[in-house]
Amino acid sequence: MKHVVVPKDSIKDLLESLMTDYKIVAPVREGQTLVYKAVNQVDEVILNDEAAYKSPKEFLFPQTEQMMVFSKDGDIRITEDDTKTILFGVRSCDLEALKIMTAVFTQGKFIDTYFEKKLKNTVLIGFGCQSEKKGCFCGDRGLNKGYSEACDAFLTDNGDQYIVQIITEKGELLFGGFAQIDSQKAVSCESGGQALLEINSDESTLFNNVDWGRISEKCMGCGTCTYICPTCHCFVFKDVVEKGEAIRYKCWDSCMYPKFTMHASGHNPRASKKERYRQRILHKYLYVKQNFGYTACTGCGRCIRSCPVGMNIKSVVTEIMEGLK
Ligand code: SF4
Ligand code: SF4
Repeated sequence: MKHVVVPKDSIKDLLESLMTDYKIVAPVREGQTLVYKAVNQVDEVILNDEAAYKSPKEFLFPQTEQMMVFSKDGDIRITEDDTKTILFGVRSCDLEALKIMTAVFTQGKFIDTYFEKKLKNTVLIGFGCQSEKKGCFCGDRGLNKGYSEACDAFLTDNGDQYIVQIITEKGELLFGGFAQIDSQKAVSCESGGQALLEINSDESTLFNNVDWGRISEKCMGCGTCTYICPTCHCFVFKDVVEKGEAIRYKCWDSCMYPKFTMHASGHNPRASKKERYRQRILHKYLYVKQNFGYTACTGCGRCIRSCPVGMNIKSVVTEIMEGLK
């Protein structure tokens, strides 16, 4: 693995030079929060130790994505997006989330070619956290807040310079020209340790021996936790008629909404809140693990920081496992 040193002054020049060929998405200030946005000027980019309010998942899996247009004369036009993008300054937890999302969308029975193409056209540049933020529990999930290899190159703040670990050819293209340093002298590059917070039980036990009604009592079913979550990936197709043409969109959906699993017959297998909340927890901590080998929670803490009634997934998972001992 190759390490280079990039003086802080040089990062903006580098981004500036890349702006002609790439859309640069990076953390920028919006009101009191930090968000990932396409930048117009490199001076907008903020690389500090703040956590971004939302993850950058929407740049690979947009909240509303046009897929195709059905014209009046029977033609179907597939919507193409060839934008080359650099996702810059992405935290370890969000890189791990994109890794999980990549497995779900590109390694299962069905391939999402829209996601796959965006990922191919994207360069992922990671950036280490120095401190755990309020509500974060990435360490309990076995992640290293300061490093992840789920990207093309990873930046670590080192005073007046960044140490950049080059991981892929895409990373080499961006950073290969900077001065190389001895990897022994570079920062720690452990991807993480053992996850302490896991659900190790089977579905039948979890369905029957956990009081989901009590656990989900406070939840209002607003869906905020699913929209803000960097690993939540449920969607629904919507066909909309606009100016005489039918347009198919892929839109985020939420397992916390009552109609999420509603059948055409009117039957709803998850008719009550406790079944929907159980689904959210088990999807993250059991089903994605069974299907793709990952627990779909990075411990980013966003759902905890955003829930209007203070639901805390870390406490819920801890309570479930304590109760089943
Ligand atoms: S954000 Fe909180 S109240 Fe809203 S659906 Fe999620 S757990 Fe329930
Ligand atoms: S479930 Fe909550 S803590 Fe886990 S990845 Fe999603 S938003 Fe982050």
